Amino acid sequence: MNLLDGKYVSEKIKQEIAEEAAKVLATRGRKPHLVAVLVGHDGGSETYVASKMRNCEAVGFKSSLVRYEDDVTEEELLIKVAELNADEDIDGIIVQLPLPKHIDPEKVTEKIDHRKDVDGFHPINLGRMQRNLPSFIPATPYGITLMLKEYNIETSGKHCVVVGRSNIVGSPISILMARNTYPGNCTVTVCHSRTPDIKKFTLDADILIVAIGKKNFITADMVKDGVVVIDVGMNRETSTLTKSGYKLYGDVDFEGVSQKASWITPVPGGVGLMTIIGLLKNTLASANKEVYS
Ligand code: NAP
Repeated sequence: MNLLDGKYVSEKIKQEIAEEAAKVLATRGRKPHLVAVLVGHDGGSETYVASKMRNCEAVGFKSSLVRYEDDVTEEELLIKVAELNADEDIDGIIVQLPLPKHIDPEKVTEKIDHRKDVDGFHPINLGRMQRNLPSFIPATPYGITLMLKEYNIETSGKHCVVVGRSNIVGSPISILMARNTYPGNCTVTVCHSRTPDIKKFTLDADILIVAIGKKNFITADMVKDGVVVIDVGMNRETSTLTKSGYKLYGDVDFEGVSQKASWITPVPGGVGLMTIIGLLKNTLASANKEVYS
């Protein structure tokens, strides 16, 4: 078994991003700038946003946080997004999901100017990605492709099984793995909660990407020898053993599956770290007007 080491790859790419950010500052007189909008006080969201802000600062970006309480109205939020869209000092805007029930996340996502949509969730970016046109690619799938590239994992002609079909992970990564690019050119099967006998599909996977949010769902008996495993799951459980007070588990039973896998991502230390890289790269590309001029 070989480890797809998110810590190693993310640190390496972060250095490259920092060098590019310094060039942006030198030539344009300002840093790439990411703004995050956070509504409420969900523990997971607080952690993710704080990590995004910290990583921005670490590579020499400017980061700003706009906070609202849970009772912010949809209209107030849409007005703020419009303001951020119009602000020329801002390169990337993210609105941390989930939002409170009274706010339609689709409306908010579509309100973000697609040229600043560094989460890559806007339908224009998703459509352009599917057509293989320049676009912002959702951060987690983007991070996964960077990881596969770094380790020169062969993908062409392989059977890639994606478990999960969410808008932010399963669905976009299935599109990317089927595109005529590298990584890509796979034959892709997408499984979800209505798939009967998932094991039938996972057992045939050369590349298995799992994003469902169920601790240790994929076990050793569900995979074949030599499979490449990407575990996106981040299942938090409270723990007295860690400083943070919680422990993270993947969707894959690492102990069992790693005995059969040729390559596998750990949790933590795998895809989560690469997601941040996807976001930073999109923000840098926006500052450099690489996607939309
Ligand atoms: P999500 O929106 O909750 O979607 C879950 C998907 O899994 C759905 O498509 C669902 O099917 C499917 N599913 C649920 N239970 C299943 C089962 N028993 N068998 C087969 N399919 C099942 O999840 P998400 O946002 O993609 O997140 C998935 C996991 O990845 C979570 O643990 C999340 O925390 C983690 N995550 C990690 C990162 C990272 O950076 N590492 C980023 C994003 C998410 P239906 O569509 O039929 O309901």
